[in-house]
Amino acid sequence: MLRNGQDYVVGLKAQAKKDVWIAGQKVADVATDPFFRRPIEAIAALYDLQCATHHGVKMAATDAASTDAASNDSYGMSFLIPRSADDLADRRKAMGLWADASFGMVGRSPDYCNTVVMAFEETKFFHQLGADFGNNLTNYYQHIKKNDLFLTHAIVNPQTDRSKSSADQENPYAHLGIVEKNTDGLIVRGAKMLATHGPTADEIIVYPLPGSVAAGEEKYALAFGIPTDTPGLKFICREPFDDGTMSRWDHPLGSRFEEPDAMVVFEDVLIPWERVFLHENVPLANKLFTSASIQNNTGHQTAVRGLAKCKFLVGVAIAVSRSVKTDVFLHVQEQLGEILGYLQLIEGAIHLAELKAERTESGAIRPYWPPLQTVRYHLPRMYERIVKVVQVIGAGGLLINPTHEDIVSEVGPDIAAYYRGAGVDAESRIHLGKLAWDATGTQFGQRMLQYERYYAGDPVRVGATLYLRQNVDELLALVKRALSEDVMRV
Ligand SMILES: Cc1cc2nc3c(=O)[nH]c(=O)nc-3n(C[C@H](O)[C@H](O)[C@H](O)COP(=O)(O)OP(=O)(O)OC[C@H]3O[C@@H](n4cnc5c(N)ncnc54)[C@H](O)[C@@H]3O)c2cc1C
Repeated sequence: MLRNGQDYVVGLKAQAKKDVWIAGQKVADVATDPFFRRPIEAIAALYDLQCATHHGVKMAATDAASTDAASNDSYGMSFLIPRSADDLADRRKAMGLWADASFGMVGRSPDYCNTVVMAFEETKFFHQLGADFGNNLTNYYQHIKKNDLFLTHAIVNPQTDRSKSSADQENPYAHLGIVEKNTDGLIVRGAKMLATHGPTADEIIVYPLPGSVAAGEEKYALAFGIPTDTPGLKFICREPFDDGTMSRWDHPLGSRFEEPDAMVVFEDVLIPWERVFLHENVPLANKLFTSASIQNNTGHQTAVRGLAKCKFLVGVAIAVSRSVKTDVFLHVQEQLGEILGYLQLIEGAIHLAELKAERTESGAIRPYWPPLQTVRYHLPRMYERIVKVVQVIGAGGLLINPTHEDIVSEVGPDIAAYYRGAGVDAESRIHLGKLAWDATGTQFGQRMLQYERYYAGDPVRVGATLYLRQNVDELLALVKRALSEDVMRV
């Protein structure tokens, strides 16, 4: 089934017993709490777009070949196991529509985690642990696909002491680990970070990062998915930027697209066996990322989403420059040209990943990983640069802007006289300056930057995998030929 925004909110209301803490308070009901109102509105708007047709984008797929009547229902494009180049292109367009809707500011839109579970299902990764675990994942995939659920994920251990393994931390349950196994399932204790949209999602999935479980530390090797209102599960949110009353005029982005981030605490949580996908298998835990096509598929989503965000920010840079006509200067033109060029590089990488898509063992298709991993590594750098260009070109103009209340106060005539731009009235120019600062400088803008730096994990290791996971024989052969007698023999 395809959910709309109202269906999503109804689902959240049904989880009223969720244990969520924000700004010093235990939340009585996430669905109606002012801190979560706007984040929920943003996600609900995406679900509404999924059900709308005016945009002409295919947002749903069906399993026509299935004999199971229930699975013949339509489901969201990000649950689709792609089997052709057309499937990949359709998925890109669907992801692009959602990304464009928030200018790429909603990072953890539902399509992100959907593609993770889809990739688990497509590769049958968990079948390696036995049919039970494989079937658990298949049933989970069918469940979230059929009910169009919104998943968050928390896959990183709390920082605590990064120089030590999980078992060597002072508190053996600083990192999430198994306390007990019984006939019902696993009892787990500890914490994971950083669940963006944790409180506002229906389900949470946990799975290991590559190399995150040390040899002999079986109890930390875990993969599972459970509802976010599971007893013992607690979300502790970071300090919010918007209490639900921030002015939409003064903060055009922050008042719409803030995503709550949370530490997830597991206080002896029962993970029923049917929701366990992996436990205590260290080699498979550490192999999951590279073997289960996660990065091929999530990389597709994150590149499309990142492109939407970069496009928007480049547009902001140009608009800010034109508002005071600094774009007549050569060095400003050069900076605008530089950042416009990044858009071509990112878009080119997305198309290359689709052009060089690979057949998988199951007969599905997955985007080629190197261009997408390249985007994961370089986009944060490009994004940082675009942010800097907006700030450098905007200069003091980004920090002189009064509030809308000032514009309509008795200093209004002064503002109208002195804040105008080149052919732009004062109010329009101030509004643009607010947008530019919200995108780059406010708490919201700075989270956007930190998000790009870290949403895909540690950038140092992201870069290193580009070297470690690629076959470089062709490049070394070039070196060998250059040193041979037969240099021109290609
Ligand atoms: C806004 C935001 C939203 C996010 N949303 C989510 C989400 O929804 N779900 C999710 O699971 N994750 C999410 N993440 C990502 C995640 O939580 C981490 O931030 C990310 O994986 C990086 O880990 P870390 O922050 O613990 O940094 P660390 O791993 O502690 O790294 C910090 C620095 O220390 C260095 N370092 C640390 N350990 C080592 C080591 N062993 N070897 C070499 N160098 C090391 C790193 O290179 C890095 O420069 C999000 C992150 C941000 C910022």
